[in-house]
Amino acid sequence: MNAATETFAISSATRQFLERKHQLFIGGKWQNAQSGETFAVIDPATEARIATIQLANELDIDAAVAAARKAFKGEWSKISSHQRTRLMLKLADLIDANMQTLAELEVLDNGLPMMLAQYTIAGYASEFLRYYAGWATKIHGETIPVSPMGVANGESLTYTRREPVGVVGAIIPWNAPIAMFVLKLAPALATGCTIVIKPSELTPMTALFMCDLIKQAGIPDGVVNVVPGIGTVAGEALTRHEDVNKIAFTGSTAVGKKVVESALGNLKKVTLELGGKSPVVVFPDADVQAVTMGAIRAAFFLQGQNCMAGTRLFVHKDIFDQVIQGVAGIASQMKLGHGLDPATQLGPLISAQQRERVMAYIKAGKDEGAELVCGGEAPGGKGFFVKPTLFTHSHQNIKIAREEIFGPVLYAQSFGDSDLETIAAEANKSIYGLSGSVWTKDIAVGHKMASLIDSGQVSINCHAAVDPAIPFGGNKMSGWGREFGKEGLEPYLKTKATTVIFSQPPF
Ligand code: NAD
Ligand code: MN
Repeated sequence: MNAATETFAISSATRQFLERKHQLFIGGKWQNAQSGETFAVIDPATEARIATIQLANELDIDAAVAAARKAFKGEWSKISSHQRTRLMLKLADLIDANMQTLAELEVLDNGLPMMLAQYTIAGYASEFLRYYAGWATKIHGETIPVSPMGVANGESLTYTRREPVGVVGAIIPWNAPIAMFVLKLAPALATGCTIVIKPSELTPMTALFMCDLIKQAGIPDGVVNVVPGIGTVAGEALTRHEDVNKIAFTGSTAVGKKVVESALGNLKKVTLELGGKSPVVVFPDADVQAVTMGAIRAAFFLQGQNCMAGTRLFVHKDIFDQVIQGVAGIASQMKLGHGLDPATQLGPLISAQQRERVMAYIKAGKDEGAELVCGGEAPGGKGFFVKPTLFTHSHQNIKIAREEIFGPVLYAQSFGDSDLETIAAEANKSIYGLSGSVWTKDIAVGHKMASLIDSGQVSINCHAAVDPAIPFGGNKMSGWGREFGKEGLEPYLKTKATTVIFSQPPF
């Protein structure tokens, strides 16, 4: 038994769910995986097993895609957009009603602190569904004034229809499991697509719990299929599948490139939300206290396992020491612990492997001459913890300033009285372009700098503002396409143009 569930109270609903048999959810039914292979799901704070899941292979992916295709052609295609809205609102209410269980599962599975788990569920997952539920009835084409083949004006009609793209394959990472799950599910349901979701094998629990809620909400069988599995097996099979119309992928840039290759077979549509190494640019007039807290949040939210993380901190020389002292002061006092402990501010990393990866970056930082201001160690004992770490250095030609670490490691550098273009050039020295923030009280500097940062998203006086209505996605090697907002519907839709002529063409 997991030490944590003995030390901290968890609800009986959570306990019962964990003790259940965890199969694949295909065509609205729980089914055994074809290979019989299983996987131990670990609480990263205690290293204890919390559940054993079954792993999907190619054959299971075939079955899930077939179920999604059947639902797409059948029952789901006949359901009105109003009804899709109602089903989505019902699912959102069920998420809220089961918030405690979902939050406990997320904490035990992923390691994040309880308060953040609750936020990703009630503040994000259910609101995200409600936002897209509203869109289901507002997706429509246009009529276009044309004169095809020379027919007179007014002697023809051309209209477009926005049709669902079909069967969507969604592949999601482990860093914010339920948020990622809903992020792919909501636009699929709103547009009338069906979906096969492959959660990360490291964090499948909330995705599996969601299947019960999907069923309870009355969403028809086969519309949503959930198949946890290994990336190179189940993920690869889904991205290669000839009957999948679109892949919505969130994960690393390296795997994103593989997804594109696998998608070539049937030229399925692909959206990619990939890595980041986002800049936080602080001008000398900024509110130092707000900057300090903002930089902490930007760097250490989800233990730094956050694609939007602000991991390159650029501070004007006049306030550099003040900001660095402030950040180090707070970071070195942050309480690491189990997410179920209300005092915990920082949880563990997801796995031993991730901790090794992060520790190797910390070693590289030291070896390449960066100054370690605080952290830099993994406390001993159980759990994959790494202390929040701050390095400073004078230039970015070192690994920790260039590569995405995906752990609680912040790199900081000062700048002088250069023009905004020069400062922006330094902030843009990255293969990534996902997020970024500018801190200043001067609105002209704020907006100019925001326009110069080459990222899909820039926030002023906060970092990584997230809302279902704010488009989100990456420039450069941070990805293809946008999710969230109205734009987030586009990749789930295709346009059909239809023309009728009322008179014969003149030639
Ligand atoms: P990952 O790329 O290793 O895995 C992501 C998903 O892809 C998992 O479900 C995995 O099983 C699957 N996968 C692995 N190999 C595959 C293959 N060959 N074919 C198909 N699927 C495969 O990433 P991760 O370690 O789970 O997550 C961390 C990465 O995700 C970071 O780089 C981070 O920046 C990125 N991320 C991006 C966003 C975003 O919205 N831009 C959000 C969260 C995480
Ligand atoms: Mn886990």
